Amino acid sequence: MSSVVETRKAQTFLGSSPKLRQSEPEKEASADNNVPDNYVSWSLRNQKPRPPVTFDNLLDNIQWLSFIILTVTPAIAIYGLFTTKLQWQTAVWSVVYYFITGLGITAGYHRLWAHRSYNASKPLRYFLAMAGTGAVEGSIKWWCRGHRAHHRYTDTELDPYNAHKGFWWAHVGWMLIKPQYKPGAADVSDLSKDPVIRWQHRWYIWLILGFGMVFPTLVAGLGWGDWAGGFFFAGAGRLCFVHHSTFCVNSLAHWLGEAPFDDKHTPRDHFVTALVTVGEGYHNFHHQFPMDYRNAIKWYQYDPTKWFIAVCGALGLASHLKVFPENEVRKGQLTMQLKRLRETQDGLTWAPDVEELPVISWESFQEQASKRPLIIVAGFIHDVADFLDEHPGGRHLLVKYVGKDATTAFFGGVYDHSNAAHNLLSMKRVGILHGGMQHGLEDKSIPPAQRLRIARYNELAGSPYASSTAVSDNEGMIG
Ligand SMILES: [Zn+2]
Ligand SMILES: [Zn+2]
Repeated sequence: MSSVVETRKAQTFLGSSPKLRQSEPEKEASADNNVPDNYVSWSLRNQKPRPPVTFDNLLDNIQWLSFIILTVTPAIAIYGLFTTKLQWQTAVWSVVYYFITGLGITAGYHRLWAHRSYNASKPLRYFLAMAGTGAVEGSIKWWCRGHRAHHRYTDTELDPYNAHKGFWWAHVGWMLIKPQYKPGAADVSDLSKDPVIRWQHRWYIWLILGFGMVFPTLVAGLGWGDWAGGFFFAGAGRLCFVHHSTFCVNSLAHWLGEAPFDDKHTPRDHFVTALVTVGEGYHNFHHQFPMDYRNAIKWYQYDPTKWFIAVCGALGLASHLKVFPENEVRKGQLTMQLKRLRETQDGLTWAPDVEELPVISWESFQEQASKRPLIIVAGFIHDVADFLDEHPGGRHLLVKYVGKDATTAFFGGVYDHSNAAHNLLSMKRVGILHGGMQHGLEDKSIPPAQRLRIARYNELAGSPYASSTAVSDNEGMIG
C-alpha cells in the first residue's frame, strides 16, 4: 500500500464521489466483516438517500470528473474524424489497441482481480494492469470494489449499476450522476496485497495519461509518422469504444438475451453482447458462476478473453484456471429447461382429475348410457357424443360399445390406438365406474401425455413438503 492520499487520488477517476470516499477510509480488514445478516434492508433503512435529481439540483449531482472524461473523449474523437485522414496502419493499430486495453479490463480487472478466477504471473499482472489502465476506467481497486458489490447486491439499490434503474443508468448514468445510496459493502482487502495493484495506485495518474493517450499516439507517430491519427483514433476514438464496450456489460448484458442458467435476476446471455464486450456476453452464466475463468462454456461461443487466459495458461503465464463442475452447471440448465416445460404444461388443458369425477354404479351407467353415448375404457366413463362422427374407424364401431366396456377393444383388441387417441379419449371422461379401476390398469388409465410430468417438490404426494393445496393422484402425478 502506498499511502492513503495516493489511493484516494486514484479513486477519484470515474464514479467515486468525494463524500463516499470520506465515509470509506482505507482499511486492511475485510470491509464486510461486521455487516448485519439483513444487510441490504438494514443498509437501505439506515441510509438517508440523496434527494431525487431535479433540474434545480442537477449541477450538484453531476460527478464532474467522470462527466468530463466521458464527454470530452468522444468530442476529441469526433473532431479528429472531421480533421484528420485515417491511415490504414492507424486503423489497424486502433483495433489492436482496443483489444489490448479491452483485455486489460476483461482478463485483468474483471476475471483476474474482481473474481480471482485464475492466478497470473507477475509479468502478466503488470501487462494487464498497464493495458487496463489504458482503458481509463478507474484503478483496479476502485473498479473491483464496485464490481464485487454489483455481484453481491445484483438488481438492488446497493448494486452500483442496478439494472432495475434502467438501461442508461446501468450503462453510464451511474458514473455521471451521484448515486442515491452508497454501494453495498464489498471486501477488496485481498487486492491491497498485490504489489502490482499498489504500483498502479501509486502511479495511476501518470499511467492513465501514458497508456490512455501517449502510448497509442507514440506507436502511430514513431511507427508510421501519423501523430495526429494516433492521438485522435488510437487514443480518443479507441478509448470511446473501450469505454462503451465495458459499459455494455452492465447495460446490454442485463437486458438482452436468454437466461439459460437462472432467471432470478437480470443478467442475460447473448452473442451480440459477447461481440461488443470482448467476450463478456454470457453474463447469465457469469453471474451464476462468477469464479469460472470462462464466460462462454461452448467452444463455438465468442469469448476471446477466455481464449487469451487459456493461451496464457498454456504459456505458463497463468495457472489455476477455475472451472465450475460441469455437473453443477448442467443442474442450472436443467432447472430452466424444466421451468419452460412447466409453462408449456400449464398452458395445456388436461383430462379432468380423478377426484373431480363422480363415481357411478354399473346400474346407473347402464341407465345413463341409454340416453347418451357413454363408453367405458380402463375404468373411466367417457361421453363420446361429439366424437361419433369424427371417429376415424367409423361411427358404427363406437355405437357398438355404448353402455359397454371397450378397454380391450381400445387397447388392441380391435385396434391398438395411438397415444394421441388415448390423450383425446381422456378429455371425454365424465365419471368413474364404481369398482371399475382394476389393479394393473394404471398404464391404461393414465393417458400417455400425463405419464411423465413436471411437478414442484411440494406437489408430489408423500413428500414431506407436500402442500395441502397441491392436487395429486395416487400415482404421484399432478392432474
Ligand atoms: Zn452483471
Ligand atoms: Zn463479474
